[in-house]
Amino acid sequence: MSERVDILGAGLSGLSSAIILAKSGKEVHVHEVRQDSGARFDGDFQGIENWTSEIDFFDEMREWGLDPNSFKSNPFGVVDLVHPDDVITNPVTDGVAFRVVERGTDSHCIDQGFKKMALDAGVKIHYGVKVDPSQCDIIAAGPKESSAVAFGEIFETSHPNHVTFQLNDKLAPGAYSYMIIIDGVGLICTCLWRKQRKSGRFLDETIVWYENHYELDRKPIKRVGGKGDFSLPEKYVFDGRYYVGEAGGLQDFMWGFGMRYAITSGVLAAKSMLGEVSYEKEVRTKLLPLVKVSATNRFIMNRMGDRGFKAVAKYWMRDQKKTGDGLGFMRLIYKPGIFRRMLWPFVRFGMLTKGATSDGRSYHRMPFRKALKRDDWKPSAEAKLVASQWKNIQRAGGKTSFNSNDQ
Ligand SMILES: Cc1cc2nc3c(=O)[nH]c(=O)nc-3n(C[C@H](O)[C@H](O)[C@H](O)COP(=O)(O)OP(=O)(O)OC[C@H]3O[C@@H](n4cnc5c(N)ncnc54)[C@H](O)[C@@H]3O)c2cc1C
Repeated sequence: MSERVDILGAGLSGLSSAIILAKSGKEVHVHEVRQDSGARFDGDFQGIENWTSEIDFFDEMREWGLDPNSFKSNPFGVVDLVHPDDVITNPVTDGVAFRVVERGTDSHCIDQGFKKMALDAGVKIHYGVKVDPSQCDIIAAGPKESSAVAFGEIFETSHPNHVTFQLNDKLAPGAYSYMIIIDGVGLICTCLWRKQRKSGRFLDETIVWYENHYELDRKPIKRVGGKGDFSLPEKYVFDGRYYVGEAGGLQDFMWGFGMRYAITSGVLAAKSMLGEVSYEKEVRTKLLPLVKVSATNRFIMNRMGDRGFKAVAKYWMRDQKKTGDGLGFMRLIYKPGIFRRMLWPFVRFGMLTKGATSDGRSYHRMPFRKALKRDDWKPSAEAKLVASQWKNIQRAGGKTSFNSNDQ
């Protein structure tokens, strides 16, 4: 391998590769189309999951030489789980179920933590540049197409730190909504796994739901969001190039928890370039089984409305009662068991479509599903008020960093 390595994309996966390679003495250049790392986001809170492996993810990061203290994170062992019939229960664990981090360009954001680690390791990052992917060794350019979108509002609040996860097919078609509050700043977000013409309608109604159930004292600041790309490429190394993170389709088809896959795949690609492992083999044995299980879970969930979501929530709480640990259920549903393995051929043919990229890579990907009849409902009077409140905030300079129609 030549001493110089070129990486496309200065997000989590690209910078993970860059740090490992630079620490091993390579001359690493990262080419980023935006002006900074994290600029794809705008202060969104995201959760790094701790359930797809027995090892705590921050311990795993330390083993790889990545420092989790380089960015702010808040661990959580409990959430409010909202069932579709508005019953609220609490999955709880003694350990860390997930950690909330902030995405964006502020110094405490995870993207900036990775940037700092990369610069300290000697990586040269070129921002605001367009580079031909064929000139790069690692492709870490994030999602290309939309399989789903998330749309949220960031606000000031007097509510203490908190996380709510809501399964509700009306407010979040085919998916879930969530509220995360950290140190006086809140995010209410709805995920749309069926394509809608006006995503703002779903967010307004979701905000109303949270306002009716929590004392939020909400002062809107901005609206944020983004897309997720869920695909299964035929190969993860193609024409000598390594595809990592969402550029390689490495995402959690079930809930969209892609950060752990992004960082892990970035590290594995770097180790492969250093001759320590084979990237293709590592992805196929460590990440692909998880991705396939998540796709199978998604396939099952696509067939359920609120009745199915209620069954999931009930089963989760029953499992917690039996085992005494709410995290056990999440571990269980990501375990590749025989039942889900048997379902795989149906998932592949029933949920994924075949395609090819312009550079000749073929893949199966999850298309953005069409809206259903039941997604067409009239906004409540309260939701109309939330919408007009947001219009006023916008007139006063409130920004939307994600165009809900840009899908
Ligand atoms: C709204 C939202 C909420 C989410 N919530 C969670 C969550 O709670 N937990 C979780 O684990 N995951 C979550 N995810 C998913 C997670 O953000 C991604 O899976 C993860 O960031 C993927 O990392 P990546 O390195 O592949 O891409 P990114 O971190 O996005 O990095 C890709 C980089 O490549 C750059 N780029 C793109 N095109 C080019 C180009 N042509 N040339 C150069 N550079 C380019 C981009 O600007 C970007 O900086 C969420 C995603 C969204 C959109």
